[in-house]
Amino acid sequence: MAASRRPTVNRGRFGALVAVIAASALLFFLAPPAPLRVDIPPSWQDLASRTVGGAYHVHSNRSDGHGDRAQIAAAAAKAGLTFVIVTDHGDGTRPPDPAAYINGVLLLDAVEISTDEGHVVALDMRRAPYPLGGAGDAVVDDIHRLGGLAIAAHPDSPKAALRWSSRDALIDGLEWINADSEWRDESRATLVRAGVAYFFRPAPALALVLDRPSTLDRWDAFLRQRTVLAFGASDAHGGPGSRLEDQNRTLLGTVGIPSYEASFRELSLRLQLPGALTGDAGNDARTLYDAIRRADFYTTIDALATPGLLDFHQESSGGGVVARVAGPRDAEIVLIQDQRERARGIGEVRSAFAEAQTSCTRVEVRIGQTPGIPPVPWIVSNARCGRRSIAPVAADESAPPSAAQPIPPFPWRIEKDAASSGILRTGQYDATLEYKLAEGEKGSQFVALATDLRGTAFRAIDLRLASDRPSRVSVQLRDASGRRWARSYYVDAESSQLRVPVEVLRPVGGGEGPPDAEKMTSLLLVVDLTNANPGRSGRLRVLASAFQ
Ligand SMILES: [Zn+2]
Ligand SMILES: [Zn+2]
Repeated sequence: MAASRRPTVNRGRFGALVAVIAASALLFFLAPPAPLRVDIPPSWQDLASRTVGGAYHVHSNRSDGHGDRAQIAAAAAKAGLTFVIVTDHGDGTRPPDPAAYINGVLLLDAVEISTDEGHVVALDMRRAPYPLGGAGDAVVDDIHRLGGLAIAAHPDSPKAALRWSSRDALIDGLEWINADSEWRDESRATLVRAGVAYFFRPAPALALVLDRPSTLDRWDAFLRQRTVLAFGASDAHGGPGSRLEDQNRTLLGTVGIPSYEASFRELSLRLQLPGALTGDAGNDARTLYDAIRRADFYTTIDALATPGLLDFHQESSGGGVVARVAGPRDAEIVLIQDQRERARGIGEVRSAFAEAQTSCTRVEVRIGQTPGIPPVPWIVSNARCGRRSIAPVAADESAPPSAAQPIPPFPWRIEKDAASSGILRTGQYDATLEYKLAEGEKGSQFVALATDLRGTAFRAIDLRLASDRPSRVSVQLRDASGRRWARSYYVDAESSQLRVPVEVLRPVGGGEGPPDAEKMTSLLLVVDLTNANPGRSGRLRVLASAFQ
């Protein structure tokens, strides 16, 4: 018995050994190559010394990330980065942390805000006086009022609810790639390969799921109109788990949410500064944000090749643009202008055509052996836009009404939920609402001024409003069936003159198209939880109201 058993055991051991060798060979075959090391030529040293790498769009355990600021900074230091822009989910009311060097890495505190039309990152913004939320264009308008830049996050996410769908918002930038969204459209085979390879070469494994995002085409369409910045977003969370972006992740989904360090080695922003950083966190934060506002930055997919050094500038002679790259020998520069490829070449490309003065031009650098169908570019620059200004265009939401004389107020009354309270004081030419939203859990707290309409045709509502402190008021029309159309307006202590054209009102709770004014039965001025917290009290004054 014993003699006949021994060979079986040996065969078993031998089989296991063969399996291990075969598996190792397979894994070696499947694992993506390590990033190419780029040698920086001596003539590039000045630019290299002024170029700093950093991660943008990172979540800490203050929202749905897994690490604290020190852990994030430590991971960034290991990955060789100089700064991290932390973008925890929020409504803008938390005072931003002052910029700070932690573990030698400059941490900047920004916020990712959920709107009705997708997520938007607010960079370099002051604390908001009320929760930011609601329509995408209203949030972007508030971000601008608070001095910030509004960046559409994961604008083409495969998840419809996360897509940036606002057509009206004047965003300052978008994420041309979002590392956390990229795995969602990959085949099961690619995800398994990436998941296994992650344990051998983390960052190159993550890069396996990258493609050339269609957002680049959307960006090109924007650039025909105005300057819009483009960011490569890590959307790093430092581990798997339940998250705001995706509550029910599958096991495969966890492939897309790696360690901070792996995320930081996958892709980064490269900012080109006028000089060296000083070590003073406040000053250096200003220098970094100024470079971002000047569009002096680009994205590199470091998991493919690193470091990526790009010199892309307008010639002072006014002749056009020049792009040079220090990269792998096959690195091909492609100049894109007006949604079309204008020039391509190795090492250096210039474009001398006259349109460069008025059009936006951008650069992609492509290298061989790149994952994705179509392949992801190695470097994506920002645009050089001739004489166009980067400054966000002010939203035109308070065009002054033509009628200048005081108009007696509508006969207003109060509508509210059972627990909130409101008092209405009516003068000869004004009406004041004193409101207090009910304390406690967020429910459907609201207080509104309402007035009845009598089937009159009108094209716009003129209002002069004032509020005891900065707030947002939702101007709404309601029909007999209770359907409402709304748009929110910023109001503060200085009375603001609003003209609300009927066609700018959007259906509450989804749907398309403006209301039919003749079918409307009520006009409402609403304070609700979209831009206020439970317990909020205040005064809203209506100084004039009229239909046009
Ligand atoms: Zn998001
Ligand atoms: Zn995010």
